[in-house]
Amino acid sequence: MKLSARLALLLTLSVGVVMAVATLITLHQREGRLREAAREEVRSHAMTLRIALEEDYLTGRMLDAQRLINRLRENTGVYSVVLFDAAGEIAGISNTLAPEEFKYRNEARQVIASGKTIEIGRSIGGEDYLSLVMPIEGESRRVGALEIVQPISFVKKHIARARTDIAVTTVLVFFMILLVVTVVMRYNLARPIEELLEGAVAVGRGDLNYRVIVRSRAGELARLAQEFNRMADRLAEQRAAAAREAEERLALERKLRQSEQLAAVGSLAAGVAHEMGAPLQVIDGRAKQLLNHPDATTETRQRNLTIIRQQAERITRIVRQLLDLARPYTLKLQSVQLPHLVRETVELIETQAEGAGVKIELSLDSSAVAQADRQLIHHVLLNLCRNAIQAMPQGGWLRIECLPGAGTKEGRRFAALRVADTGEGIAPEHLSQIFVPFFTTKEVGQGTGLGLPVSRRIIEEHGGWIEAANRAEGGAVFTVYLPQARDSAEKAAGQTLAEGAIA
Ligand code: ADP
Repeated sequence: MKLSARLALLLTLSVGVVMAVATLITLHQREGRLREAAREEVRSHAMTLRIALEEDYLTGRMLDAQRLINRLRENTGVYSVVLFDAAGEIAGISNTLAPEEFKYRNEARQVIASGKTIEIGRSIGGEDYLSLVMPIEGESRRVGALEIVQPISFVKKHIARARTDIAVTTVLVFFMILLVVTVVMRYNLARPIEELLEGAVAVGRGDLNYRVIVRSRAGELARLAQEFNRMADRLAEQRAAAAREAEERLALERKLRQSEQLAAVGSLAAGVAHEMGAPLQVIDGRAKQLLNHPDATTETRQRNLTIIRQQAERITRIVRQLLDLARPYTLKLQSVQLPHLVRETVELIETQAEGAGVKIELSLDSSAVAQADRQLIHHVLLNLCRNAIQAMPQGGWLRIECLPGAGTKEGRRFAALRVADTGEGIAPEHLSQIFVPFFTTKEVGQGTGLGLPVSRRIIEEHGGWIEAANRAEGGAVFTVYLPQARDSAEKAAGQTLAEGAIA
């Protein structure tokens, strides 16, 4: 039910209840007054009759008394008059009703004895009557009593009629009030509230140009409408300001990105120029020598050509790595037993490690199984091992570990490959740069500065990550995190069994 309808009904109901209570009180008062008037009338009749009867008793005209009470019957307002003698027995009665109907002789005797008038309410044939029993005084003694009975049902009938009239009037007034209150509410409360509601819905939808009609200057609803419009103004201003700011920020970001891209291209170009400059210069020098000395010995020519070939190979390697950094990868994912991969890699670097005086230690947990592209991860591990060996020119040890369940990210478990060495370590100021393309601390011809950026790219393509740190005891440690294969546990169990069978 709408608010205005509810308020109108409540208001009308309250007024109705107040009206009903007031009516009941009025009716009660009216009934009291009517009864009092009836009582007064009976009293005055009784008084008149008593005077006349006392006169008849004094003069001994008892027949006149009987005639008098008979004539009183002609008054329709009197139901009956009963005359009692000094003993309280019925001496005369104005109507033909049986004397038994009046069973109040005791009251008559009581009145004769005390000399005090009493009132009795009677119900005869379903009708209400008021009886007044009054003593009749003789010269020296009480000679009897009289009872006058008057109907008072008219009071009840009158009140019943009044109640019906008032009920009809109340219902009519109730509906009129309801109508008036509804109309007043509709125009003064419901309509403004509906308009405010529409405004709130429109603003909620994002239409900040919507304004509520302000119908009057005074009143809380008018003020509410004004405040609503002011709020919409402020919101519209804030939105415009936010849009402006967002646009400015976007433009700034675009500019920043552009300059970052330019910087990246610049540093890449510088890196390419630096890395390729040296071999190209060598090639140029050796080619010039060949051209300028056509008569050079076969041995000299052979040496120059070999150097040219070596430098061309170096350029090819750089170009390949550059391509690795930029090309999109299509991963051939499979469950890769990391311990197997480590053993394969160790076979390739064993000779190089031996030559550099590096001892290789392995700690391989067979349950470390990654969901990975076998060839690419092999490439990464090879690169990390070569870097480690190169970092230990005086020899040392290279430790490779496989760790299952080494970390979690977004609810997924990761296995890890850890490559640690006892080399020179990474200078703290270089830690943030070692993954930047062409960053290298190695001598010309030794490194391209592309190994770690390419490795990181490959690992990130797998959804993993790589961490580099220095060991407290000296040397560097690289940890590669790769998504763990879902069925790694079973595979690991199977693997151990298979290995046992081969052995
Ligand atoms: P490159 O090996 O061609 O220099 P990388 O990208 O592989 O290129 O490595 C970048 C740099 O990171 C290296 O030049 C070196 O300074 C540092 N680095 C990598 N691995 C190690 C390591 N095991 N110990 C110390 N420094 C390392």
